[in-house]
Amino acid sequence: MRAARQIGCDEATRLISAGLDRELSGPARANLRLHYLACSACRRFEQQMLMLRRALRGMDAGDVDASAPPNPPEEPPR
Ligand SMILES: [Zn+2]
Repeated sequence: MRAARQIGCDEATRLISAGLDRELSGPARANLRLHYLACSACRRFEQQMLMLRRALRGMDAGDVDASAPPNPPEEPPR
């Protein structure tokens, strides 16, 4: 069993970007969570990336992640 380890901001941002394309492994996610406890900048960075991705996904309906809710409620169809 591997424990979470301290990572730097460069590795954290790399994990965040990787996590946008695919699921992170358990240890990688644990490292990221641990980093968030100490670093609010990377926490904010992840929020922005998630928001950006959701905005992009709204435009491109062909690529839907199965783990995400099918329809974000904040944008009603016209
Ligand atoms: Zn950081």
